[in-house]
Amino acid sequence: MKKTILILVVALTLLACKNKAKQDNGKLNVVTTTTMITDLVKNIGGDLVNIQGLMGSGVDPHLYKASEGDVTKLVNADIIFYNGLHLEGKLVEVFEKMGSKTKTPIALAEEIDKSTLIGSDYFASNYDPHVWFNIEYFKQFTKKVTSVLSEKNPENASRFSENEKVFLDKLETLQQNVLSTIETLAKEKRILVTAHDAFNYFGKNYSFNVVGLQGLSTATEAGVQDVQKLAAFIIENKVKAIFVESSVPKRTIEALQAAVKSKGHDVVIGGTLYSDALGNTGTLEGTYVGMFEYNVNTIVKALK
Ligand code: ZN
Repeated sequence: MKKTILILVVALTLLACKNKAKQDNGKLNVVTTTTMITDLVKNIGGDLVNIQGLMGSGVDPHLYKASEGDVTKLVNADIIFYNGLHLEGKLVEVFEKMGSKTKTPIALAEEIDKSTLIGSDYFASNYDPHVWFNIEYFKQFTKKVTSVLSEKNPENASRFSENEKVFLDKLETLQQNVLSTIETLAKEKRILVTAHDAFNYFGKNYSFNVVGLQGLSTATEAGVQDVQKLAAFIIENKVKAIFVESSVPKRTIEALQAAVKSKGHDVVIGGTLYSDALGNTGTLEGTYVGMFEYNVNTIVKALK
């Protein structure tokens, strides 16, 4: 990390000396962190901006460290969008340096009214950062991205605004679809057991009891006691299925399944959920809307 910071400082100093032109081919250079934010900016910016997402499909943002290539991208960016609330735990130091040197990276979660967030003692932010699982919050992300792009590139403001309207409509349709799918699952069956606590906002909105084996961040491994306790909980509550996450190794959930079996019961692995990263680019799950629908369908089908 120290090396990354050093490279960053050197790069920023060189950049300041060069007085580099702000835009490339007349397009804004936008750098994003998570795949959810990359997809959002693609929806609003389309081909009017150059978008570079640092994290790919299956990448865990809690553990992600900036590479030297990332630092170059960050230095050349006109705008940097990230989640914030310490989701990108290892990038915070890099962003703090950037803020003081040139541009201020924009933490989209700062748009949300803090009093509505779920608290957490684990994160330095004191809040659970997995806010994209509240579609209303993602609408706020959308509005912020549109306003920043429009401010930096006023010639295309009306195009951004049209794209915003289309995307907000898609999010509203998504919200209605999710609600009607979840309605088909009895309330007492709404227990969601996953590798880590990414789904607390999801649970709050759709009345699920959410239990993550590793807590809020993947930076801490689950202990034997955690596994045994959760296995007992699964048996007691007759939970039919538990879920793997695409950005977390499956071994923790498999250990949990084995612990349930060792007590003479069965629980199936209901599928892989996309928690902190979307699926592959070009697939339905590679988009925010597709990811959300996929998760909900997978959860409801397995728990019914
Ligand atoms: Zn997470």
